[in-house]
Amino acid sequence: MNHAAEFERLTGTYFREGKYVVSETSQHQPVLDPATGQQVGSFPSVTPDEVDAVVTAANQAQKEWWSASALHRAEAMHATARRLRELKPVVAELLTRETGKPYKESADEVDWSISAIDYYAELGRHSVGSVLGPSIAGQMHYTLKEPMGTVVVILPANFPLLLLIWEAAAALAAGNSVIVKPSEWASLTTLKFMEVFDDLPAGLVQCVTGGGSVGAQLVEHRHTHMVGFTGSVPTGQRIAKACAEQFKPCLIEASGNDAFIVTPSAPIEVAARAATFAAFFNCGQVCTSAERIYVHEDVHDRFVELFVQETRKLRIGHGLDHVDVGPMEHAGERDRFEGIVARAVEQGAKVEMGGGRPADLPEELSGGYFVEPTIITGVTPDMDVVNNEVFGPLAPIVKVSSVDEAIELTNRSAFGLGATVYTTDAAEIHKATNEIVSGMVWINAPILDNDAGPFGGRKMSGLGRQLGAEGLDTFRHTKLVMVDPLASEHDFWWFPYSTDEAWQQA
Ligand code: NAD
Repeated sequence: MNHAAEFERLTGTYFREGKYVVSETSQHQPVLDPATGQQVGSFPSVTPDEVDAVVTAANQAQKEWWSASALHRAEAMHATARRLRELKPVVAELLTRETGKPYKESADEVDWSISAIDYYAELGRHSVGSVLGPSIAGQMHYTLKEPMGTVVVILPANFPLLLLIWEAAAALAAGNSVIVKPSEWASLTTLKFMEVFDDLPAGLVQCVTGGGSVGAQLVEHRHTHMVGFTGSVPTGQRIAKACAEQFKPCLIEASGNDAFIVTPSAPIEVAARAATFAAFFNCGQVCTSAERIYVHEDVHDRFVELFVQETRKLRIGHGLDHVDVGPMEHAGERDRFEGIVARAVEQGAKVEMGGGRPADLPEELSGGYFVEPTIITGVTPDMDVVNNEVFGPLAPIVKVSSVDEAIELTNRSAFGLGATVYTTDAAEIHKATNEIVSGMVWINAPILDNDAGPFGGRKMSGLGRQLGAEGLDTFRHTKLVMVDPLASEHDFWWFPYSTDEAWQQA
């Protein structure tokens, strides 16, 4: 594939009714390769009329999709998964060139997307409601599961394809159509990704590009029926409020500030390697990254020594070279990250390693948004760095004197997405899994996902669940049906009320 030609072909377009259409807007935003800072294309901020046309097409396609059999929908979704397998090398390369992530991480993201599509293809036909024990003898009472209609999926840039599929696959399996509003920092790859939906009715999955105002139009549109949002807390709050105006259901997957606890019973070398991955995977731009590392005082110094050793091994560079860590998504994110590190140092943290920009990168990457994976110690619970999401390659270490203290500090956060605990002590496992207030807890298994298990947060991390059976139900209405096959007269409660049951004055 000639990536430059592919980016050029996609530039200026949005994806409507199964085709790339050149937008009539005059507003375009440049797309930069974060490893070089060079422009590779641009994307349009589509017009309100174009949004309307996409919504109309989505509602038409949804009717066709829902009128087909569940088996047909499953087969079409499996075909989509197969098509994605074919397109994997192309999509993964563009993903690396647009977001900076190492090619292996892009390829993994495509593989995980394939498995989620296949999972929901089957789950969608597995359960379509339930039969209830009737409250009146001889009647039939049951529930039907029905689609919401047109689902708007609004996305961030850190896993632009996987997060799209986690919601879109469930929404499609539930019988909905989908309109994707990609991140401004992954728009061209998301447009390319639309080709995987070739086996679905035209208009069933569409993609409109632009910034927050395009997202807001889709959310507020009278003919969209649900919103699945992944991104920051302020945007999530704005979307939840806009949805509340119309009682439009919404799934809000917002920020994380996950704890990573290391107890004395943990295999310390393994815990150090795990922390390196959990803190620096995707350059720390993961909602479930290790954001606060609480280490028991008995193992603190040894853990820090091993963690620094492991982190020094990381190769930083262009995602298409043999590297472990790429650049940050864009210059604004790099600048924000550097401000957070400076503030932590100002508040008394000690930099154990990193803290700057990598010095030995090749000349052609000098315009990229690279920062060094950074470990800081001497962090205290009151510092800003542990009370807000960093969303970058920073590992702040807090020394604690007990597992109870670590759990108490974990729960002090405003966020509640996930938490990891390294321990081999059964009592600690039981305590942590029961007492940590979060959507997910990983014991010695950091940031793992499972298509079959629910993903989502509590507190300021969001509302609702994606993935698993819960993630299918998120995109469905439940309708109660009651049938009296004999059309009998319900004398046990209809008019006229019997004299026996009237109030008897004493
Ligand atoms: P963001 O909130 O700035 O943007 C996310 C999306 O919302 C973008 O597509 C943007 O254009 C759109 N948007 C902005 N304003 C809007 C509005 N008023 N109406 C509708 N759409 C609007 O988030 P970001 O900085 O791109 O993403 C990073 C955040 O995402 C981090 O906080 C991270 O933790 C979070 N995240 C959460 C999860 C999760 O599953 N909980 C997963 C990945 C990322």
